[in-house]
Formats: sequence, C-alpha cells, structure tokens
Amino acid sequence: MKSQRDIAQRLSERGYRLTPQRIMILSAIENSSNHISAEEIYAQVVAKYPKVNISTVYRTLELLKQLGLIYEINFGEGRIGYHPEGRGHHHHLICRKCGTVIDVSESVLFPIQAILLQALNFNAELKHLAIFGICENCQQ
Ligand SMILES: [Zn+2]
Ligand SMILES: [Zn+2]
Repeated sequence: MKSQRDIAQRLSERGYRLTPQRIMILSAIENSSNHISAEEIYAQVVAKYPKVNISTVYRTLELLKQLGLIYEINFGEGRIGYHPEGRGHHHHLICRKCGTVIDVSESVLFPIQAILLQALNFNAELKHLAIFGICENCQQ
C-alpha cells in the first residue's frame, strides 16, 4: 500500500483530509483478499465508528476512485467490488449464465491496446476490466 503520508498528500492537494474513517475504508480495501463491496466496507467501519452512515462510505469510495487509489469493478446485477490500486492490474471474465469469474492477467489485452493505438492513435488504459460472456462449461 502507498504510505499514509502519500495518500494524505494526494487528498490534501484536492482539499481533503485523511480522516480516521477514510483510513479505515482504505485499509478495509487493502486487507481484503478479494473484491470487497461497499456494504462489506461499511460493516467494518460502522463496527468502529457507529455514527458513520453508508453514504459516507459511498462518497469516500468515489473520492478514492477519482484519486486513483482504488479501482472499481462492476460484476453486473448490482455487484460492485473494489481493489487497492496496486492490485488492480488484471481483468475479469464473467459468465452471464453461471456467474463464474475468471481472472486473467493484464497482458491478455495488450494486443487490443496495440490495435487501438495503431488504428486510432488512442492510448487505452486497460488495467481492470470486467468482460461479460459465456464460460466454457455453459457453452456445452
Ligand atoms: Zn479485480
Ligand atoms: Zn458459465
């Protein structure tokens, strides 16, 4: 994880402070082994700060996302998860039928990045995508 001083600096550049709640939200994301949801983060934060409401969590997630400290991933059907920035360099293949999620490395989409750059001179940032389709099992 980036040091708290780095994060505090990035926040203060935009006129925000690194409050205890923000630290808790960041560390909840950092310490989860998988994609943690806003609801799961809220459950952890509220255990320590009973006055925090879930809209604070949503606002903070939005801010951290804008600052590039976390990545969001939309698994469809309202399921949204979060990663710390350092662990966001991979993609997810999501089966529309059974919901299986297959993780693939960032490099899988390098050819697409190259094509977009060559054909459209567009430098695509493909770091953490959810790609929907049908998995091997469900095709049979
Ligand atoms: Zn991910
Ligand atoms: Zn499937």
